[in-house]
Amino acid sequence: MNKIAVIGAGTMGNGIAHTFAQFGHPVSLIDVSQEALDRAIATIERNLDRMVKKEKISEEDKQATLNNLNTFTKMEEGVEGVDLVVEAATEKLDIKLKIFENLDKICPDHVILASNTSSISITKIGSVTSRPDKVIGMHFMNPVPVMKLVEIIRGYATSDEVTNTIMEASKKLNKVPVEVNDYPGFVANRILMPMINEAIYSLYEGVAGVEEIDTVMKLGMAHPMGPLQLADFIGLDVCHSILEVLYEGFGNPKYAPCPLLVNMVTAKKLGAKSGEGFYNYEHGTKELVVADSFK
Ligand code: NAD
Repeated sequence: MNKIAVIGAGTMGNGIAHTFAQFGHPVSLIDVSQEALDRAIATIERNLDRMVKKEKISEEDKQATLNNLNTFTKMEEGVEGVDLVVEAATEKLDIKLKIFENLDKICPDHVILASNTSSISITKIGSVTSRPDKVIGMHFMNPVPVMKLVEIIRGYATSDEVTNTIMEASKKLNKVPVEVNDYPGFVANRILMPMINEAIYSLYEGVAGVEEIDTVMKLGMAHPMGPLQLADFIGLDVCHSILEVLYEGFGNPKYAPCPLLVNMVTAKKLGAKSGEGFYNYEHGTKELVVADSFK
């Protein structure tokens, strides 16, 4: 596994490209938006600077990482000579299916096609290609250069050989890969999202306030961050989409998104990225201030 292409240069794509480049892989970062590519390179440079300051890497490591990165807006140019593609584009089924259909046409047969999707079925993504045995989930966590876990999702048709190759490639990035099967939400979000939804229900039903719920989970369960703050960081729209996938996938009402979450998403209160969710982020994240609606 040498040269890698990463598709999508947003929050996850820049972190995935950074990590592969830091571990010596030439990386083509591909996005439909030149602006997203420019922003991604600036973010990677800032994150590398922080690592140099903390003496986690040297100035030479930083330069070598940046030298390993190239950006493209045309997919067929970016995938030239790669052994692995990791797709981290927007979490929309139609976008992902189009990307994989296209990748299948333009990449030679040996190329492994991975998706960083949080919830979309790997089996479904694989089914639009002529190589479902070489389609796999590689679910990195945010922020990618820091978080150890990669959830490796085997689609129904993913081969043992491809699974082993991706497990080994993840270990070489100094990550801990965990193999799971392809069912709605995989493991990470199947367990996390019902907890977040239940925290929102507790607020909705007036069991306790925002800070009280988060404090119980932080101090009582040793979680580094309360579930409502975590939901704000993930993005309330993302949490909502994943709960919908769980609800539809299992046909079980226990996964139905809490009406308060639905209302907040409809009102475009999406958490940290929109400036307000359960907390208010207008003045940054240093001091958490409960949003006016929940005071
Ligand atoms: P994002 O919105 O920050 O970035 C998505 C990028 O994809 C954008 O830059 C967009 O321009 C680009 N894009 C859209 N269509 C494209 C196409 N056809 N070709 C190339 N680029 C295209 O999204 P994100 O938060 O980085 O999420 C990306 C993926 O990672 C999603 O599948 C998401 O579920 C998953 N994920 C997200 C998180 C998280 O915490 N944000 C964690 C794990 C997994």
